[in-house]
Amino acid sequence: PLIKCRLSPRRLFFGSKPMTIRTRFAPSPTGYLHVGGARTALFCWLEARANDGVFILRIEDTDLERSSQESVQAILDGMAWLGLDADEGPFYQTERFDRYAEVVQQLLDQGKAYHCHCSKDRLESLREQQMKDGVKPRYDGQCRDAGHEKTGKSVVRFKNPRSGTVVFDDQVRGRISISNDELDDLVIARPDGSPTYNFTVVVDDIDMKISHVIRGDDHINNTPRQINIYMALGAEPPVFAHVPMILGEDGARLSKRHGAVSVLKYREMGYLPQALLNYLVRLGWSHGDQEVFTIEEMRDHFKIGNVNRKAAAFDYDKLDWLNQHYMRNLPPQEVAEHLAWHFTDMDVNTENGPLLSDVVQVQAERCNTLREMAEQSRVFYEDFDEFDAGAAKKHLRPVTEQPLRALLNRLTDQNTWKPEALNELIRLVAEELEVGMGKVAQPLRVALSGTAVSPAIDKTLWLCGKERSLQRISHALEYVMFRASQS
Ligand code: GLU
Repeated sequence: PLIKCRLSPRRLFFGSKPMTIRTRFAPSPTGYLHVGGARTALFCWLEARANDGVFILRIEDTDLERSSQESVQAILDGMAWLGLDADEGPFYQTERFDRYAEVVQQLLDQGKAYHCHCSKDRLESLREQQMKDGVKPRYDGQCRDAGHEKTGKSVVRFKNPRSGTVVFDDQVRGRISISNDELDDLVIARPDGSPTYNFTVVVDDIDMKISHVIRGDDHINNTPRQINIYMALGAEPPVFAHVPMILGEDGARLSKRHGAVSVLKYREMGYLPQALLNYLVRLGWSHGDQEVFTIEEMRDHFKIGNVNRKAAAFDYDKLDWLNQHYMRNLPPQEVAEHLAWHFTDMDVNTENGPLLSDVVQVQAERCNTLREMAEQSRVFYEDFDEFDAGAAKKHLRPVTEQPLRALLNRLTDQNTWKPEALNELIRLVAEELEVGMGKVAQPLRVALSGTAVSPAIDKTLWLCGKERSLQRISHALEYVMFRASQS
C-alpha cells in the first residue's frame, strides 16, 4: 500500500473549522543558540505570527550528557533578546518521560513495537556483513516477531511498515518520497527506558498539536520515519518545511572558524536584534527586492513556502550594513535600551550622565556597532585617567591656556546647555581671540574627552554636561600650567 501523506500547502481549514497554525522551535540545549537555529526559530515564529497562530518553545533535553542548564539559559536569553516570544512553553522533554513511556507501552500493547534482544555484537557483525555486501546497514528485524519480553538489556523498536512509500510535500523542498525498504525498525526506547529523538519529537508534536514542523534540513531523513510513527499512533502528520543550512563564505556549513555563530555573541559584538533578524530573514527568503524589513513587514509578507531551498551563505558585510541602518533609523529610545546593556556589561554606571537616547542621536552616525558606541561614550559617564599623550602634546600647550580660560569663564555663566547655544559660545570665544574655531575646539575636545577624537565639539560639551565640562576644563588648565612650569 502506498502510505500517502499529501497535505494541502496551507491547511487553514480542518473540516469546516479554521485551523490554528501552531509551530514550534525545538532546540537541543547542547551549546549556544546558533544563528542557523535562530533563523529557524524566526521562520517558525513568523509563520505563527503571520497567521494569528501559536508559537511554542520546546527544549529537547533528553540527552542528559550533552544538555546543560547553561545552554538552556543561552537559548532563552537569545530568544528573548531577539524578541521571539513563545505563546506556550518552554516545555522540557525531561519533564515528559512518563508520557513517552506511556506511548511506548501503547505501541507495544498494540503490537506496533517490540522488545529487541539483539546484542551489540550481533548488530555490529550484521553491519559489517551488510557493508561487505554493499547494502545500506539496517536492522534486519530478527526480533520483530519473536514475542520477546523486556529484559534489563533490551531495547524497544518501532515496527516500521515493510512495504509502501512515504510521500510528503515539503513546503521548501517539494515532494519527497522514500520507500519503506530503505527504513528499518527504529529504536524508540533504550535499555534504561529512555526514549529516542525520533520518537519523542512525534509524541510532542502530536500532544502539542503542531500543525507546521519547520526545522533545519539536517532532519529531512528523519521525517519519513517520523511520519510512520504518526500513522502508527493514528495521528495526522503536520506540514513539514525543511529549511537549508547557513553556509560560510567558502560554502562549508557555517561554523566558528567563519566568525561568530552564537546569537549572544552578536549581542556582545554590538549588533541590534532588529539587524540580526532582518539579516536572517533575508537569508534564503525574499520579497521583491526589498532589503530592509520591519518586524511588521516580515509578518505581513513572510510565507514559509517562499523560502529558497538552496543553502545561503552568511555575509558579514551585509549584516554590518543593516546594523548601521538600524542604529541610525530606529527611534533613539529603542536603540538606547540596547546600548544600556553594553554599559552594564562594561560596568559603566550611566545614572550620572546624559540620557542614553541623546548619546544615540549623537553617536549613531559615527559608530558601526553599539559596542563601539558604548566605548566611545564612556567618557560622558566616567572620568578618564589621563590624556592621550599625542593629543595632549599637540593641543594642551602653553598657548592653549588662553582659549581654555576664556571658555571656562563663559561656560561658567552659561545656563542654556544645548548644542546650538554652546556652539555659538565657542564661536564667540574664537572671534574674540581672533583665532580659527579649531584653535579653541581642539584643546577643548582634549580637555573634555582626553583624546583628539570625539563627536562635534558642541555635542561633546552638551553630552558631558555643565558640571563635568567645567571640571575637566579646569583640570586641563592645571595640566597646561604644570607643563608650562616644567619647560
Ligand atoms: N532538537 C532538534 C535539534 O536541535 C530539532 C528537532 C526538530 O525540530 O524536530 O536539532
